[in-house]
Amino acid sequence: MTLPRIVVVGGGAGGLELVTRLGRKLGKRKRAEIVLVDRNPTHIWKPLLHEVATGALDSGLDEISYQGHARANGYQFQLGTLTDLDRDGQTLTLAPVLDDDGEEILPARTLPYDDLVLSLGSVSNDFGTPGVAEHCHFLDSPHQAELFRQSMLNAFLRYSAPQETSAKMVVGIVGAGATGVELAAELYGASEMLNSYGFTTLDSDHLEVHLIEAAPKVLPALPERISGAVHAELERLGVKVHVDTRVTEVNDEAIITAGDERIDIDLGVWAAGIKAPALLSELGLSTERNHRLKVDATLKSLDDEHVFAFGDCASCPQEDGSTVPPRAQAAHQQADRLYRNLVARLDGKPLKPFVFRDRGSLISLAHFDAIGSLMRGASARSLFIEGHLARFFYASLYRMHQRAIHGALKTGLMVVVDGLNKFLKPRLKLH
Ligand SMILES: Cc1cc2nc3c(=O)[nH]c(=O)nc-3n(C[C@H](O)[C@H](O)[C@H](O)COP(=O)(O)OP(=O)(O)OC[C@H]3O[C@@H](n4cnc5c(N)ncnc54)[C@H](O)[C@@H]3O)c2cc1C
Repeated sequence: MTLPRIVVVGGGAGGLELVTRLGRKLGKRKRAEIVLVDRNPTHIWKPLLHEVATGALDSGLDEISYQGHARANGYQFQLGTLTDLDRDGQTLTLAPVLDDDGEEILPARTLPYDDLVLSLGSVSNDFGTPGVAEHCHFLDSPHQAELFRQSMLNAFLRYSAPQETSAKMVVGIVGAGATGVELAAELYGASEMLNSYGFTTLDSDHLEVHLIEAAPKVLPALPERISGAVHAELERLGVKVHVDTRVTEVNDEAIITAGDERIDIDLGVWAAGIKAPALLSELGLSTERNHRLKVDATLKSLDDEHVFAFGDCASCPQEDGSTVPPRAQAAHQQADRLYRNLVARLDGKPLKPFVFRDRGSLISLAHFDAIGSLMRGASARSLFIEGHLARFFYASLYRMHQRAIHGALKTGLMVVVDGLNKFLKPRLKLH
């Protein structure tokens, strides 16, 4: 008897949680074949990328090999990049896998599916701003975060030369959402750490970070109280915050703003706005202008009974007329709803709608502070928190992800190992 086949493309914050639960519930019991496809062989939780970018987190310690994880959790893994979909034939096409020299390791393949789930995430949106693609770093993938880290270390090294001791290394970050804000603070954390490792000419006085935001405040999507507190803390660290400032061009030396201001930079980072992969608009399915795939409240595509989408790449309606925000906690909650819906579908039961419950927003400012709000009670009243309590809840979002993919026991052990590594390993990855 052939088993029904559920293929999930994208093993990120949401996709990996989904296949883990489907694999344990359906794959291990031979009720369905569960297949995960990802273009990378390993997973790292995306909200950690700003820490990978500054070396505050060694990605090697936190990354998960899909192949090993699949074997332990009852699903199969296929390395590959989705390039096309034949919806009539219910097959998807994966591009050939190449090595670093462009030699083919695996040819293009087609995979059949009965139900397909797309959880491809999102990438930064430069809105076609001239020079951004050529001259800015992005933090959309572990590879990009690693490239930024290497450039940052090289620039720091250059400024540690004796003849450069009075000069400042200048970093321009465009976009003061969570990514831009957290990266700005992490850079000050990294400069302090480098100083303590013997680069004594490097400290926060030799670093200048410009954080540039088109909206009237930092963290535009968050309540005034949080953005106000974060703004004040960033300025205390030394970050030069420019709000109401639209960037019109970036070149190899500077960021140019709509007011013709020129900010000379050593390193530029673009962290403003997101869009889903353009491929989604080429599959004959309804999408928004930013390529997010339109789904109904059950996370099913508007056009195809057998295609689902969730996380950053999906546009899912909420009761108030807005769409579910592109956040890790939304991907986590949607993975849970989709897991239940896909199991219900196999059992011939109806699908239930997804309802997003905002648990609050937390911003980490490296080791200096954490600020945010928690939602409490049915009325969803927000509770402002900062300091150790905020840091604890910030860390708990990642622990929830670990728990979903490793179980409670392993997550507990990981907390202990992380604690030990703080004593055993340098706090900053320097190589
Ligand atoms: C630096 C940074 C900090 C953040 N901080 C926070 C935070 O504090 N709180 C919060 O709630 N959110 C945060 N976010 C947002 C959060 O990371 C995303 O909302 C979340 O990761 C979305 O999950 P996802 O499963 O939809 O996609 P992702 O986690 O991005 O996963 C997408 C997966 O799809 C794979 N993929 C993509 N295209 C293809 C293809 N064509 N073929 C095969 N595989 C493919 C990718 O390799 C990846 O594994 C942050 C994001 C960044 C970049």
